[in-house]
Amino acid sequence: MIKTCRKYWSEEIARSIIQLREIRFDNPQFSLTTTFDTEDFTRILKERFGISDETISSFFQTVSNMNFFDDQTMTVRELFERYFPGRDDVMRMLMEPITYANGSDLDDPAITYGIVFSNFMSKGVFTFQGGTDQLIGQMRAALENSGVDIGLKCLVDKIIINDRKAVAVRITNGQIIRCKAVLSNANLLSTIHELAGDEHFDQEFIDQANKVRVNNSSCQVYLGIKKGETIDYVGDLLFTSEAAKFDPNELRSRGTTSRTFSFYYPSIRPGSDRFTIVASTNARYDDWVALSPAEYRTAKEELIEATIHCLEKYLPGVRDKIDHAEAATPRTFQRYALHVKGASFGTKFEGLKVSLDLPKQIKGLFHTGSVGIIMSGWLGAANYGVIVAHEVDRYLSGAQAVR
Ligand SMILES: Cc1cc2nc3c(=O)[nH]c(=O)nc-3n(C[C@H](O)[C@H](O)[C@H](O)COP(=O)(O)OP(=O)(O)OC[C@H]3O[C@@H](n4cnc5c(N)ncnc54)[C@H](O)[C@@H]3O)c2cc1C
Repeated sequence: MIKTCRKYWSEEIARSIIQLREIRFDNPQFSLTTTFDTEDFTRILKERFGISDETISSFFQTVSNMNFFDDQTMTVRELFERYFPGRDDVMRMLMEPITYANGSDLDDPAITYGIVFSNFMSKGVFTFQGGTDQLIGQMRAALENSGVDIGLKCLVDKIIINDRKAVAVRITNGQIIRCKAVLSNANLLSTIHELAGDEHFDQEFIDQANKVRVNNSSCQVYLGIKKGETIDYVGDLLFTSEAAKFDPNELRSRGTTSRTFSFYYPSIRPGSDRFTIVASTNARYDDWVALSPAEYRTAKEELIEATIHCLEKYLPGVRDKIDHAEAATPRTFQRYALHVKGASFGTKFEGLKVSLDLPKQIKGLFHTGSVGIIMSGWLGAANYGVIVAHEVDRYLSGAQAVR
């Protein structure tokens, strides 16, 4: 993330990315604290789980050497069974955080684990010191510095295509913005089916797009601590669960006890003396979409209550220090980020090829963003953005050369 931001954003942004030191796991199978990097995982696998040096190094070598062009038939489950047969505790430690982070599960291709592992679990966990508002301000400055016009609150409702070539976008106030290329950062499926329109594509491509599964979604509970109150340091990130074993289905269910707490101490927001806690769970859109307004309100209240109840185990008395509690659900993510079924982690693996093939169908139409699990999360989306931006640049230089 630091390298990506330094190269493509600014030194200032890169410098604000800091490592979190204490990542905790607490579940019926184990309780431990880690710095979440290959070195520390090696120590834990050896000392805590009794795995041999040979197996550990062979496993890490295999996952870090995986790449997109490898055999994609092996599943994540098979990968773990090959190296750690029957060890669902080991699998839980190495896989549960990835499932939280991008919704992947044991039946996904092993390659998705390998690539995400390299992005997410090999060197530790990082956050942006200063908060999102500061980051967005710095990104805005970097963009304006490069001569970019930024149009906020411009909802695109149509990509205008003439003769299989993207020529403009229409925004909801009716304004048409003409252009030589369109790069959509909206959900892949809405880009194809709604913004562009199936009639512009080969049937074979639409058939492929119809097979793309969107990823699951999330719930979050935001807890604000009263001004003047403090909480003890209990680690930066806590993966807690009461489930006997790691089970991706349990993780997504509405009654899950598996959640990640992110603790924001004042040091993460220099200049502020406030504490905030955010709890994240995986979630299925279908479990939330059909609720009536009253049921939805109750379900959100239950989610907040279950979260605070769980948090009290780690921070006794915290309930009395909270003065703001708010929940977001898959419906919230769909409403604000406009992702199909609130799937802000993008699509399953098969989405990547469809995203990459878009400009082969419609000249000048590109897609980027969280896609295919591999390109998911902030870093995955940023790196995929770089790849696609390069393609757009090549297309535009070619187009200019022809003119
Ligand atoms: C609860 C939760 C926790 C997460 N935690 C982490 C984490 O800790 N680390 C991590 O790396 N990743 C995390 N992620 C994932 C990360 O947020 C996503 O992978 C990333 O934001 C995806 O980027 P994107 O560009 O694909 O989509 P988005 O960030 O959703 O951006 C798409 C943007 O396009 C806009 N848009 C959509 N349609 C239109 C339209 N028609 N016209 C105009 N604008 C439009 C949307 O409003 C949105 O702003 C988390 C996600 C969730 C939901």
